[in-house]
Amino acid sequence: MNYRPLLALFALPVLALAADSASGLDTAAMNKSVDPCVDFHQYACGNWIAHNPVPADRARWGRFTELNDRNEKVLLDIIQGAAVERPGRSALDQKIGDFFTSCMDTAAINKKGLAPLQPELDRINAMSNREEVLVELVRLHRRGVGVLFSFGAQPDAKDSTRTIASLGQGGLSLPDRDYYLKTDPKSVETRQRYVEHMKKMFRLAGDSPENAAAKAQTVLDFETTIAKASADRVSMRDPNKRYHILSKQELQALAPWDWEGYFKGVGAPAFETLNVSGPDFIKQIAATLPTDTVNPWQAYFTWHLLRQAAAQLPEAFENESFDFWQRYLTGAKEPRPRSARCVAVVDRSLGDLLGQKYIEVAFGPDAKAQIGQLVDALDKALGKDIQGLPWMTDTTKKAALDKLKAITNNVGYPKKWRDYSKVTVARDDLFGNSLRAAEAIQQDRLQRIGKPTDKTEWSMTTPTVNAFYSPQNNSINFPAGILQSPFFDPRRDIALNYGAAGMVIGHEMTHGFDDQGRKFDGDGNLRDWWTPKDGAEFEKRVACVADEYSGFTAVDDVKLNGRLTLGENTADNGGLRVALMALQDTLKGKESLLDGFTPEQRFFLGFAQIWCENSTPQSERQQALTNPHSPGRYRVDGTLQNMPEFQKAFSCKAGQPMVSSNACRVW
Ligand SMILES: [Zn+2]
Repeated sequence: MNYRPLLALFALPVLALAADSASGLDTAAMNKSVDPCVDFHQYACGNWIAHNPVPADRARWGRFTELNDRNEKVLLDIIQGAAVERPGRSALDQKIGDFFTSCMDTAAINKKGLAPLQPELDRINAMSNREEVLVELVRLHRRGVGVLFSFGAQPDAKDSTRTIASLGQGGLSLPDRDYYLKTDPKSVETRQRYVEHMKKMFRLAGDSPENAAAKAQTVLDFETTIAKASADRVSMRDPNKRYHILSKQELQALAPWDWEGYFKGVGAPAFETLNVSGPDFIKQIAATLPTDTVNPWQAYFTWHLLRQAAAQLPEAFENESFDFWQRYLTGAKEPRPRSARCVAVVDRSLGDLLGQKYIEVAFGPDAKAQIGQLVDALDKALGKDIQGLPWMTDTTKKAALDKLKAITNNVGYPKKWRDYSKVTVARDDLFGNSLRAAEAIQQDRLQRIGKPTDKTEWSMTTPTVNAFYSPQNNSINFPAGILQSPFFDPRRDIALNYGAAGMVIGHEMTHGFDDQGRKFDGDGNLRDWWTPKDGAEFEKRVACVADEYSGFTAVDDVKLNGRLTLGENTADNGGLRVALMALQDTLKGKESLLDGFTPEQRFFLGFAQIWCENSTPQSERQQALTNPHSPGRYRVDGTLQNMPEFQKAFSCKAGQPMVSSNACRVW
């Protein structure tokens, strides 16, 4: 999916003000014994951090997850209401309520055992030649199992009005290719643990100890071959490197597989050309994966099927899965309550049905109008910021302003809800429900090939506590889930709202002009609209940001990757600056002291406090290696170090930690 979320987390009701302060500032979260010019994140969040350890069932706990928990309760309430069987129950309630019921029914799930998966496992075991491997690959892709490579539909990067077929790298289980290739002790240990985990899963599925061990090693070898062919995350961030329009004959030359049979088998409409994001990847896996025997393919397919289905299988599979993917890799000590996991399953499978019910209770027209005003103020400020840039020529400025003008603002929920009428939901069949929902999502995606792009589409569900920018739709999108306290509360001081929700809006707008976004024009097409001189100036400025964040330590000896996090950090820095400009424009010099703080000080506190968080060391490591977002403390301190406006607001002096001697500024 080509979109940029505000953070990579997945999961609002009207709330009381967070604290009993005049402004609505959460003064209880602060640690005022810390000097704001030494560590502003600690100053704003120190007390919160000390009193909010990561709960046992989480790897990370912050303001986003707090809000997520509150949303989850609202959703649970909706779903449990819908689950009550009664005459006249709507089709919508039947679907979300019965899906949830099937997920909660562990007795039925345990009783069925491996039976729902058995026909597919039998087919895999019966494969005896390459043709049958292809047939099985098609079957797995139809049900959304991500083996070997990814295939789907996406807007043509150079003509975003049309949606084309797209083939990309995929097929790994561990969070990144580097997990297979690095030789440091931690990576070696992780692979050993991974092999142990696979062994246990194969044993649960009925293999002898010897067979399970052999299969686990085979899968690791198979995936390591795929990892070697895969491009790293930083190079995949460059949209030009992902754009290769090929004919089917050209694809055939890369990998001599029955592509025509594959495309037809997965249900894709006819097409002539497609985008292959990594031609080298396809060529290399075709050349290096085993072709003389089907055994490795059997082990690899079986493993992916078990892995994906673990959450719908008896508890023994789920527990084993939790032990590796959560306890070991992220540091969570226990699973989330089953009801929470089942709410997430319904949101993932039937998100637009749940979203319709959610906005009825959690999002009114007032909120939409108020956020709309905030978006307008940010829009104006970014325009002013672009006009005032000392390093950009007028030609590029004009093009940038045209792009800004073309941004579509989507607030709350999508214009059109997805249709789930073809998805049958049974009250006692979690496995079948999940399979049918996954197949429907997959088919829905593929049917877009060759059609005009639907630019109103969202890539997040409505209750999600997050926001995103879509470069190809040139749109900023704010699901209803995030439009609440501590991000936005119409009853509190506006400086806090500008620092929190305003910054989030500015962040998403700035994504249109970060190192990836700047390569797309206002129509969402990959096209260079920069003069060479301005392009070089931009690259010089983002290099400063990349170097700055590369200096930050995530955990132990793991540093942030300044190039992986570059887009997000650029958006944080730009977004905060334009949010402050928008606030100052709204205040027009009216300075009022509230809770002992000036409006600028409250603005920075409102910003910092959305990033109060605690994480397990395991999760910090995984985030640093895979996540394009910096941890909360660096999103705050890394950004503010660059801002003279912050330093002025808190009277920080040169030489103090929150005053960078080499301040970076792009936007
Ligand atoms: Zn972002």
